[in-house]
Amino acid sequence: MKRRVKAVIHSSLKQMRRLRTHGKVSEELRATKELLESFLANTTDGVIIIDLDGKVLAANRAFETLHGWTRDEVIGKILPMTPPHLMNEAKQLHDQVLAGKSVNGVETYKLRKDGSQFHASVTISPIKDQDGDVIALAGVERDITEQKAAAKELQESEQRYRQLVEFSPEPIIVFTDYRIVYANPAAVHLLGADEIDGLIGKSVVELVHPDHAQDLLPQVEQLLREGKPSDMIQRKLFRLDKQVMDVEVTAVPIHYLGKPSIQLLCRDITERKKAEASLLEAQNLYKGIVEEALVGVYLYQEGKIVYVNRYLADMFGYTQEEMLQLECRQLVVEEDLAALGKQAGEALVDVNATFHFNVRGIKKNHDILFLEGSSSYTTYKGKPAIHGTVQDVTFKKAAEDSLRDSAQRYQRVIKFLPEPIVVIDMGMIIYANNSAMKLVRAADKNELEGRSIFDFIHPDHHQDTMQDIRCAMQTDEPTSFQERTILCCDGQLIEVEISSIRIHNYMGRTVVLSVLRDLTDRKRSEELLIRSEKLSAVGQLAAGVAHEIRNPLTSLKGFVQLLKSQVEDKSFYFDIMFNELERINLIVNEFMTLAKPHFTKFIYQRADQILQSVVSILETQAILTNVNISTEFDESLPSVYCDENQLKQVFLNIIKNAIEAMPQGGNVTITAKKAEPNHICIQIKDEGNGIPDAILLKIGEPFFTTKEKGTGLGLMISHRIIEMHRGSLHISSSRNGGTTVEIILPVPDKWDE
Ligand code: ADP
Ligand code: MG
Repeated sequence: MKRRVKAVIHSSLKQMRRLRTHGKVSEELRATKELLESFLANTTDGVIIIDLDGKVLAANRAFETLHGWTRDEVIGKILPMTPPHLMNEAKQLHDQVLAGKSVNGVETYKLRKDGSQFHASVTISPIKDQDGDVIALAGVERDITEQKAAAKELQESEQRYRQLVEFSPEPIIVFTDYRIVYANPAAVHLLGADEIDGLIGKSVVELVHPDHAQDLLPQVEQLLREGKPSDMIQRKLFRLDKQVMDVEVTAVPIHYLGKPSIQLLCRDITERKKAEASLLEAQNLYKGIVEEALVGVYLYQEGKIVYVNRYLADMFGYTQEEMLQLECRQLVVEEDLAALGKQAGEALVDVNATFHFNVRGIKKNHDILFLEGSSSYTTYKGKPAIHGTVQDVTFKKAAEDSLRDSAQRYQRVIKFLPEPIVVIDMGMIIYANNSAMKLVRAADKNELEGRSIFDFIHPDHHQDTMQDIRCAMQTDEPTSFQERTILCCDGQLIEVEISSIRIHNYMGRTVVLSVLRDLTDRKRSEELLIRSEKLSAVGQLAAGVAHEIRNPLTSLKGFVQLLKSQVEDKSFYFDIMFNELERINLIVNEFMTLAKPHFTKFIYQRADQILQSVVSILETQAILTNVNISTEFDESLPSVYCDENQLKQVFLNIIKNAIEAMPQGGNVTITAKKAEPNHICIQIKDEGNGIPDAILLKIGEPFFTTKEKGTGLGLMISHRIIEMHRGSLHISSSRNGGTTVEIILPVPDKWDE
C-alpha cells in the first residue's frame, strides 16, 4: 500500500513537473491527476507533501482527520507535528531522506492539532526533479495506536499466562515427540528434579510406570489426532529417584513452538490414595459392624428403604434384597404407619432430629412383630435421609402384658380381700381397699383416699402410730400387729390391730402398706367364749343339781301317793301336788339331757313329741311374759330319723326366740304337718316385731345378736343341726307382722310304705 502510494505520487509529481515545464496540460495528464486525487482522497493513510523548508504543499483528507487540521490551515505552513522530545529523531530521518534514502515504516509519535499524541508508522520519500535533485518530501502516516495497544495486551497476557503456568501449584509438563520440552516448577518438584534442566530432553516413557507404558503410545496418538483434551486419568509415575507415585492427569494436545505437543496437567494423589484406602478400611469396618450388628439397622430415603442389615431382614423373615423391594406399608401395620410417617417427615427436614417409635411390624409369614426403635436425620449420597435401629420387643411386650395382667389380678385380689388394707404415703392414705372402706364405714373411697391417716386414728394413738410407720419404713419386714383405736367416718370408735410393711416402687414411691384387723368381733367372741364356758359350767352344775333333785323327788312322789290313799277328802290337793311334782321331774330330766355331753344318736322319733317336751320346758317362761303357746299337730305325723337331743335344742332355740320377740306378750303357734313329697313341715310363728331386712341377712352368722344378753349362737347352731338332718330352715318375717320359722325335715322311705 505504502509502496503503491509512493509510486503513484512519484509518477504523478513527475508528470506534473513535466507539464509545468512544457506549459500545457494534456487530457491524459488530467486523467492521471484525477486518479491521484481520488486515491489520496480515499486512502485511510494520511499523506502530506512538504517542501524542503518544511512548508506543507499538499495534504489529503485522511491527514486532516488524523491530525485535526483543515486543509486551509495546513497549506503553506510548517506544522507542529513532531513532539518536542522526538525533534532530533525527526531531523535525522529528514536528513536521511534528503540524502536520497527513503524511510520506511518507522514507528514514532506525531502530534495532533490539539497537542495530543498518536502512535504512528511513518514512511517518508524524497520527491526529485528531472535532474534527480530532491525538491520535496512525501510523508505517509498511519495511526497504529490500536495496533500497538493490542500487541501490548497480547504481550501482557502472554506474560500473565506464563506466570500462571510458572507459579501454578499444579505440575504442568509439555512434551514434544515424547521428550520433555517444558516443565513448570511444580512439575520439577513433583518429579524430584533439582531444576528444570534436569528434566528437559528426558523421555516421557521413562517416567511412566511399566503398567501404563504400553497404553502411552496409542493414547498420545489419539490425542494428537482428535485435538481434544483427555478425561482425567489416574497413572502411576516414576520420579527421578524411581519412587512410584499416583497422579491424576489430564492431557491436552497443544502446539508448542510450532510443534504438535502434549501438555500434561498432573496432580499428586498419593496422599489422597492413602486417605482413600484408610477411608475404605473404615467404611468396611463400619459396614461390617452394621451388617453383623445384633440390632436391626436401616436407612430410609425418598419414601424408600435403601438399606437394611441382615439382622433386620431376618427379623422380618425376608432376605436383605427382598426387603429393599418392599414398601413401608408392607412392613408396618397400617394404623401405626401414619404416625411413623409423620415423625419421619418431620425428621427429614431437621438435621438435629431424633425420634423414638413403637410400631407393629408385619413379618413375611404375616405374623405381627412389636418393634421399638430410634431414628435420626442423616445424609446419604448428599441427600437427607433417616437412619436408625430397630429391636423386636414382641417377647418383652408379651412379658409386659402378662405382668400387667398379673398386676391387675393382684389389684383385684387386694381390692376384694376381706382384710382391710390401706397404702400410706408420707402419712397420707393413697389407697384403701373395699374392706378398709367398710371397716371405717366410708361410703366412697374419697372419704379415705387423699386424707391423713391421723384423721382416722384416735388421738391417744397418734404418737404410737407415727412410730409404727417410721419402723415400717426402716426394714422390709412387716411390723408386728399393734392394737389401736380407730375413728370411723360415723364417729364410732373401733378396736383394730395394725401391721405395716414397706413397699418399694409403688407408682414410683416407697410407701407403707398397712393391714388392719377388726377386733370388735374377736373381742366379743372372747367375751362369749368366757360366757359360754360359764354357761356350760353352770349347765353341768345344774345337771348335778337336777340329779340330786330327782332322788328326793322320787320319795316326795311316793309319799304324796301314799298320803292320798290314806286321806280321803283332800284328794284334789294331792292331785295338784302330784302333777306339780311330775312337772318338776320333767324339767329336771330335760335339764339333764341338755347338759349331758352330746353323742349323736340317730333314732326314729316323732317330731310332735319332741316339740311337746320342749314346750313343757318353756311354758313357765312363756307364762311369765304373758305368752301363750298353742300347738297344732297332724295326727298321723310320720317319724323322722333324728338325734332327739339335737332337734330338742333346735326347737328350744326357735321357740325361745319367739317368746323373746314378744316382751309384751302374745301368741306362739306351733304346727307340724305332713308335706309332699316325703317331708314334714314344722312352723313356729310369733306375733313379735319381725326382723328388719338388714338384720335378716345377718341372722345365722355366729354371734350376731340384737339382745343384751343374747349369744347370737342359737340360730347358727339350729341351721347346722337341720342341715345335718338333711332338712332346711327358713325364716320369713314382716315388720310388725311377726316371724315364722319353717323347718322341713325328710321322712325316711321306710315310712312311705
Ligand atoms: P340370740 O337369741 O342369742 O340373740 P339367736 O341366734 O337365737 O341369738 O338369734 C339371733 C338374733 O336374731 C336375735 O338377736 C334377734 O335379733 C333375731 N331373731 C331371732 N328370732 C327372732 C324372732 N322370732 N323375732 C325377731 N327377731 C328374731
Ligand atoms: Mg336365741
